[in-house]
Amino acid sequence: MFKKLLIANRGEIALRIQRACREMGIRSVVVYSEADRDAKYVKLADEAVCIGPAPSAQSYLNMPAIISAAEVTDAEAIHPGYGFLSENADFAERVEKSGFAFIGPTSASIRLMGDKVSAKEAMIKAGVPTVPGAEGSLGEDPAQIIRSAREVGYPVIIKAAGGGGGRGMRVVHTEAALINAVQTTRSEAGAAFGNPAVYMEKFLQNPRHIEIQILADQHGHAVWLGERDCSMQRRHQKIIEEAPAPGIPRKVIEKIGDRCAAACKKIGYRGAGTFEFLFENGEFYFIEMNTRVQVEHPVTELVTGIDIVQTQIRIAAGEPLPFTQKQVKNQGHAIECRVNAEDPYTFMPSPGRITMWHPPGGPGVRVDSHAYSNYFVPSNYDSMIGKIIVHADTRDQALARMRSALSETLVEGIKTNIPLHRELMADGRFIEGGTSIHYLEGWLEQHKQRP
Ligand code: ADP
Repeated sequence: MFKKLLIANRGEIALRIQRACREMGIRSVVVYSEADRDAKYVKLADEAVCIGPAPSAQSYLNMPAIISAAEVTDAEAIHPGYGFLSENADFAERVEKSGFAFIGPTSASIRLMGDKVSAKEAMIKAGVPTVPGAEGSLGEDPAQIIRSAREVGYPVIIKAAGGGGGRGMRVVHTEAALINAVQTTRSEAGAAFGNPAVYMEKFLQNPRHIEIQILADQHGHAVWLGERDCSMQRRHQKIIEEAPAPGIPRKVIEKIGDRCAAACKKIGYRGAGTFEFLFENGEFYFIEMNTRVQVEHPVTELVTGIDIVQTQIRIAAGEPLPFTQKQVKNQGHAIECRVNAEDPYTFMPSPGRITMWHPPGGPGVRVDSHAYSNYFVPSNYDSMIGKIIVHADTRDQALARMRSALSETLVEGIKTNIPLHRELMADGRFIEGGTSIHYLEGWLEQHKQRP
């Protein structure tokens, strides 16, 4: 096992990885930007290295600074967390070429899955069902694009091959709007992701977002740990996740789970990963694979009892998976609410000083957050400041537990989306279960006239 590991990330996931290290007896090195100097996990780290000023481009995305921090501290491995460099194949390659273990898949796997067009092609080959659409990326010929859209059938969605974080997507309802939408998405994608390639899919009208968590080792074993329902989204970004997905028969989930594990073996995947699907009328359609730990991994940890971050580290150190598919059991129900520093209804970010932070507690309640009273939320990064996760025997009990946890939570000094979570946990349709990815948009539209 590694003796020392560098955490190339910030916020709650830096703290989460640090906790895994401490339990495993691994010393942790934290890198931080000037804006994160006072963060609690920086103070708690065995070693901390400042890698640059607040803007991510000069700190958390600065590959040479991170690799030299690993060199000067004699770290053996680098955990990239999520976001930032976690899905950057060049970074993974540079980490390994510099002699460190990268806690994640090979750079070849990241490259394959990082391009959504090649990812879809690989999945089709591996027998995983994908969203119907035009094959490959779109060419330059407008007449051909129009023909493709007619074949796929409107509405279609134009998506950036290199997109992520809910950005680089445009829904098109009519032929008149098509070419313009393709061109705009292309130029936005070029500017935002350095890759102007776009592709076309059928826009599904009422799907749910269901994803499968997998873990694969370097000895040819791959298992799936169950599914998560992440349909509650705003601007294509998740805010509530749960496991298992309400109302989907186990047989249906098992079939797709087995396909995902088989696909991992087929592409020689190692580490943690997530297959994301849209689910409509009983069918799964692959949209993309995330080749890293996800924000919502705790709901799976709570229902399986498996520590995903520790297992990631064990896999990178060359250990075989410590359990077989048969030994993976889902027990009870888990729900996660992402706590964002933002206006609950307009989603305008609300950075600044937290004057009072009082997290919930009690049986079955887990809070993953780096925040505390007097913590300053920098404006430079994502607005998520933590996650409240609950686990109980049934979904109804988990909902009751989440309501209770949210009622205890107190955050003052900045705005958060906790009031929205409180309303959603009391919403009749959500309580029923099985709402689609468009549900929250409609809900917000209906509740517009609030003060
Ligand atoms: P990202 O990498 O930016 O997260 P994804 O491909 O995972 O992009 O899509 C994010 C979200 O966008 C999905 O969860 C879903 O809400 C919506 N979406 C993507 N593709 C489609 C589609 N073909 N039809 C309907 N909604 C879609």
